Amino acid sequence: MLRTVLLSFLLLLPLGTFGVSLHDIVKRDAKDHHDWNYEDKTGPKHWPEMFKKCGGSRQSPIDIVNSEVDHNDELDAFEYDNYDDPLEDATIENNGHTIQISPGPKDAPRIIDEGGMDDKYQFLQLHFHWGADSKRGSEHLIDGQRYPMEMHLVHMNTNYKTKEKASQKEDGLAVLAVMFKVSDEDNPALEPIIDKLDDIRQEGSKVEMDDFTLESLMPDDQMPYYRYKGSLTTPPCSEIVTWTIFKDFVSISEKQLQQFRNVKEEDEGEPAESLVDNFRPPQPLHGRVIEVSGEGNAAGIIGPSVVMILSALSFLL
Ligand SMILES: [Zn+2]
Repeated sequence: MLRTVLLSFLLLLPLGTFGVSLHDIVKRDAKDHHDWNYEDKTGPKHWPEMFKKCGGSRQSPIDIVNSEVDHNDELDAFEYDNYDDPLEDATIENNGHTIQISPGPKDAPRIIDEGGMDDKYQFLQLHFHWGADSKRGSEHLIDGQRYPMEMHLVHMNTNYKTKEKASQKEDGLAVLAVMFKVSDEDNPALEPIIDKLDDIRQEGSKVEMDDFTLESLMPDDQMPYYRYKGSLTTPPCSEIVTWTIFKDFVSISEKQLQQFRNVKEEDEGEPAESLVDNFRPPQPLHGRVIEVSGEGNAAGIIGPSVVMILSALSFLL
């Protein structure tokens, strides 16, 4: 046990020392930030002309059709390391395509393990996709239905020491996707993010986040979830992502969604416009089968020690 802990520590050490973001990977491949967008001549339909991989055969997002998914019992609950530990050095930025939060160099690595995956993955950044109104916004669809917002928690395979390596491997990234549903009440867990949106309305702006935990943004029920192999949903659309889409939702009020819609993007020579509808339409499955986990229990996020205590107690009861 100690050996495993030590070994994982050594493995993870180099990864904690640089702050990589998916956007960095994407940005380096794109000649210019404005090369692609979500509308008109540089919109998703034209991405394959500019970025060949966007026309590939395992692209994301997709429409998940419940009557066609395969049940897989090997998809067990995730184990989350440090998800309940507040990020104290994180930043939030408006990169013109999304609102993105990244941990800072002083933050210890956040790791996910199990969840039917062969490797451990380290948290890189989270970001959102949302609509101009609440009838749309999510990238993934479930039985043809769109949701007002989708959050992506992007993780990198800890077997790869650099983001460059990971961005070339088909198991390079694991993204956890969380769908949002409109509720009458504000969701207090989103306030640390929403509090900062006024400060980063302008494209290119970035500020420090107040302390918050990743756990606070996750849905209550970690099981079941959908699983499939796909791609980045933005150019260069690299087919390197193991996708997890939780079935349970997180709530958000219309007022909170409006704060996201007030954020601006710039276009060269044009007045700044609202940053909305930053989602890619669903892509063809090309024979891929989507899997769904069992109902399971939500033990993953509590942590293995609590699970051990609970199992010990169940002997006594
Ligand atoms: Zn995304």
